[in-house]
Amino acid sequence: MRTERTVAGVRAALRGPRLAERSIGLVPTMGALHEGHLSLVRRARDECDVVVVSLFVNPAQFEEAADLAAYPRDEARDADKAAAAGADILFAPPVGEVYPAGFSTTVRVAGLTEHLEGAHRGTAHFEGVATVVTKLLNMVGPDVAYFGQKDAQQAAVIRRLAADLDLPVRIATCPTVRDADGLALSSRNVHLRGADRERALALKRGLDAAAGAVAAGERDAGAIEEAGRAAMARLGVEPEYLAVVGPDDLLPVQRVDGDVLVAVAARVGPTRLIDNTILSPDGRGAA
Ligand code: AMP
Repeated sequence: MRTERTVAGVRAALRGPRLAERSIGLVPTMGALHEGHLSLVRRARDECDVVVVSLFVNPAQFEEAADLAAYPRDEARDADKAAAAGADILFAPPVGEVYPAGFSTTVRVAGLTEHLEGAHRGTAHFEGVATVVTKLLNMVGPDVAYFGQKDAQQAAVIRRLAADLDLPVRIATCPTVRDADGLALSSRNVHLRGADRERALALKRGLDAAAGAVAAGERDAGAIEEAGRAAMARLGVEPEYLAVVGPDDLLPVQRVDGDVLVAVAARVGPTRLIDNTILSPDGRGAA
């Protein structure tokens, strides 16, 4: 695996494969790689001839300077893991390569970004995500780009922007990878100390309780949300939101008549976590 730090460098590295019509897969990450990220890299390895993993902690999507400063960084470790999972190129540009002096453009996806994470983190978060992902797709020019269902709203926003901007890329969404006890893997889990690790299970318990309510025949979204919140309260965690929404438009639903996304966010100690699951009234559940 080689490491590239400039747009010119990564494009030069991909010129040969592109001319030979070899397929290129891109896995965008902010590093601190765990099995969730690596599942995306392995999927890209299975499906594409050349696998690029980007590693860029995007300042534009952090609303708190302290959160950005505390973000775990260890490029050497990430490089080893990406290589072992099958990456060919690690694209790790410095901030100045992505946002050179004079940078003035923002990509904003309306509608989808206004609820859930957008409502709680502010509109700048998804503007930062949409802008950097558009740039990474233009820098690398992949045939397929891989994202995790763990960040369901982010994946929906990226599918939308790729369609709206006619980007010549397929957006693949991959299942959430979890610890053995159900906690969704996240780079932020390293901040969970002592009893917070146990309390962090509240998000999965809330989703499981919502799934249980649907499996028991409940169709009223408010009652399903209440079941989820009650399960979280048993671990002493109050969600920022626990919402039953449409899986594509992310708008609240009143009743569960087809597939729905149940999305949850909560602070556990100082750590803000998110999780979600897709439920269907016929009893099919998802990661
Ligand atoms: P991040 O480095 O947090 O920006 O994540 C990079 C990519 O990995 C995003 O597409 C995430 O949705 C995905 N990802 C993060 N955690 C998981 C997980 N537990 N399972 C699957 N994908 C994940």
